[in-house]
Amino acid sequence: MSELPVGISEVYRDRRVQLLLYKLLGEGLGKLSPIFDPMYGYRYPIAEVIVGDTATTEGFLRRLAEAGVLRGELCGRVVFCPHCNSIDVSTCYCCPDCKSLNVGKALSIEHFRCGYIDAESLFHANGKLVCPKCHEVLTEAGVDYRKIEAWRCNDCGKSFDVSIPCYRCSACGRSFTFDGAVCKEVYCYSLSDEVVRGAPKYLLIPPVKEFFERNGFKTQSPGYVEGRSGVMHMFDIVASRVGAAKNTTIIDFAISNSLVDEQPIVGMFAKVYDTDPAQSILVALPKLSDAGKKLASVYKISVVEARNTDEVIKRLGGITKAIGAVGFKPLDVMTLLSLPDHLRTTAMAINKLGRSTAEDVAKETGRARAVESDYLNQLVKSGHLKKGREGHKVYFQIENSR
Ligand SMILES: [Zn+2]
Ligand SMILES: [Zn+2]
Ligand SMILES: [Zn+2]
Repeated sequence: MSELPVGISEVYRDRRVQLLLYKLLGEGLGKLSPIFDPMYGYRYPIAEVIVGDTATTEGFLRRLAEAGVLRGELCGRVVFCPHCNSIDVSTCYCCPDCKSLNVGKALSIEHFRCGYIDAESLFHANGKLVCPKCHEVLTEAGVDYRKIEAWRCNDCGKSFDVSIPCYRCSACGRSFTFDGAVCKEVYCYSLSDEVVRGAPKYLLIPPVKEFFERNGFKTQSPGYVEGRSGVMHMFDIVASRVGAAKNTTIIDFAISNSLVDEQPIVGMFAKVYDTDPAQSILVALPKLSDAGKKLASVYKISVVEARNTDEVIKRLGGITKAIGAVGFKPLDVMTLLSLPDHLRTTAMAINKLGRSTAEDVAKETGRARAVESDYLNQLVKSGHLKKGREGHKVYFQIENSR
């Protein structure tokens, strides 16, 4: 996975940024397109929900574009009224001379002999066409006159070939031309390629590492495992159960704007084949292609499809239950009943938590840490639990754990 510029990795710490990335990646939206709103101009409803405020959403998106997280693409312009700043503005046509909106296309007649041009209606007289200027009767179109379609201003009476576009403000009723208008550019936003490539590192790896550590694994990210060939292979996360010779789970991540193809599975297979871990998992955000799934099942690679961290953790929980079952078998009811009440409470907490410290158990039972430490040591002495040290921490787990 590629390194991101420092600025981007900082930005990921913002919870709102994470939510936005999950929306765009996990739900396959791909792009944030604005919708027109006569109150605010253009709005980004999806981003607004995340930011929690309509007024600051655009600034938030713009800053993310400046930081290189989003890529902005011009997708429109909003015109503001220069008089009252409203955006409730409609486009129309006006007279290039007096700027009146009272213009329309009308049929005009040009009398060749005198050169006079005016609206056709003014030439009608007693069922004939008569030139209003020289009073001559017109005879045949194309011979002594021609009909032309032209714009005409009903206010100043001028005719013209092209009208000019102008704007009318519904709020204050005034009109203005493009030169007088206040324009603002509107952008659509999508994730930058760098972010799509680097997202797993910042969004998914930390919580998944934490999940494995909570379940009694030691993790490394990136992690390296030596294959039978002697080659060192790198995985996004390597999780191994403390004290277990061969209980390594390797996890790789693949992320896409829409659908993850089979490439990550193909790439993973060579590494998995050589290192032969207890379990290999590919986390695909948001979905893996059917071809990818077929290959994964042939290669015995477990697939976790998810749209966000919560889903990843939930599905990993389902998959790794199998690992947990191998890892430790809870104390059975008969064993628990054979214990005095105060020790049974401690034993039941360990049953529930798995491998844990006296502090973890104290939190669970609500008793003092020193008390739980004493009870845990009694259970070690009686052979129900075993004890291990890792750095400064002492861990307790059920004796039959691996
Ligand atoms: Zn006019
Ligand atoms: Zn004439
Ligand atoms: Zn206005």
